[in-house]
Amino acid sequence: MSTSHIINLPRRVVIGNGVLETLPSHIRSLGLAPPILVVSGATKTVVIARRVEEMLSELGDVHRVEVRRATVSVASEVEGLAKGVGARTVIGVGGGKAIDVAKYVAARLGVSFVSVPTTPSHDGIASPFASLKGLERPVSVKAKMPELVVADIAVISRAPRRHIIAGCGDLIGKFTAVLDWRLSHRLRGEYYGEYAASLALLSAKHVVRYREMFSAKTIPVEAVRALVEALISSGVAMGIAGSTRPASGSEHLFAHALDIVAGYPALHGEEVGVGTIMMAYLHGRNWRLIRRVLRSIGAPVTARELGVSDEQVIEALTIAHSIRPERYTILGEKGLTREAAERLARVTGVID
Ligand SMILES: [Zn+2]
Repeated sequence: MSTSHIINLPRRVVIGNGVLETLPSHIRSLGLAPPILVVSGATKTVVIARRVEEMLSELGDVHRVEVRRATVSVASEVEGLAKGVGARTVIGVGGGKAIDVAKYVAARLGVSFVSVPTTPSHDGIASPFASLKGLERPVSVKAKMPELVVADIAVISRAPRRHIIAGCGDLIGKFTAVLDWRLSHRLRGEYYGEYAASLALLSAKHVVRYREMFSAKTIPVEAVRALVEALISSGVAMGIAGSTRPASGSEHLFAHALDIVAGYPALHGEEVGVGTIMMAYLHGRNWRLIRRVLRSIGAPVTARELGVSDEQVIEALTIAHSIRPERYTILGEKGLTREAAERLARVTGVID
């Protein structure tokens, strides 16, 4: 096993109300060069992407592209475009899809990546990993840490409530991700970084601490800001660990398995939340508290609320261990038997 690893961190993270307007000055002062390619979603984020394009035009050549899906084929198209215009900086403006595509393309071309998140639904906004559909496996791949993250709370707090709550679910998952990582360290001698683990755990505890605010019908801006900071911390924890280990364990394997079994039935963070309830049970931890917190903030806690059948949950549980065999978790090498999976889902109230 290697005794050293590289830590990549963002050079600058800017969080606050209205910070989008400061994007050009940060790009300039960090020496991020044009030509710039702005990648955004195709719906609500287009308005923000246009604004970004307009603001950055004073710096030089700016191009803009909209993506509808985060697939390998879409990413190759964007890569071709980026190459064609000689992009030296790629900016992802949006939720998951645009940021994943932009991050992946920047990594492929070896150019700078800037993250401008518009929703707080997952911790990919400041992580060096991208998740794209159409790769061999539905897990995230090493891409590129953003050099600059500009998280405008005024923009992000306008995201749908469901996306905000999904971000909380993704963070709650760190409780079991860290347990799985420690388990693998103890059983397999895998590298374990106490600091990265603590940082990831802290981000999960943030959600628990702010749970009353997240349960409000209109989530206060203060809570959204705490969520964004926690999502960024989780991404940074991955940067420090040099892998997704602190942020992704058996609860993520369950989420990926459910995506395969049921064809991406819910938001990533919603699936992770339900996975965390069940994996906390397997770890012998306080799964009831996790369930209670998720329920109180309005996150799904059952198969029905995720829009899947009981059978799909059971099937996902039995194949979860095989999604990423090299990642040792509480699911072990052989995974759960059908009977154990059914019992697990039933005991934790995920199926009835
Ligand atoms: Zn996640």
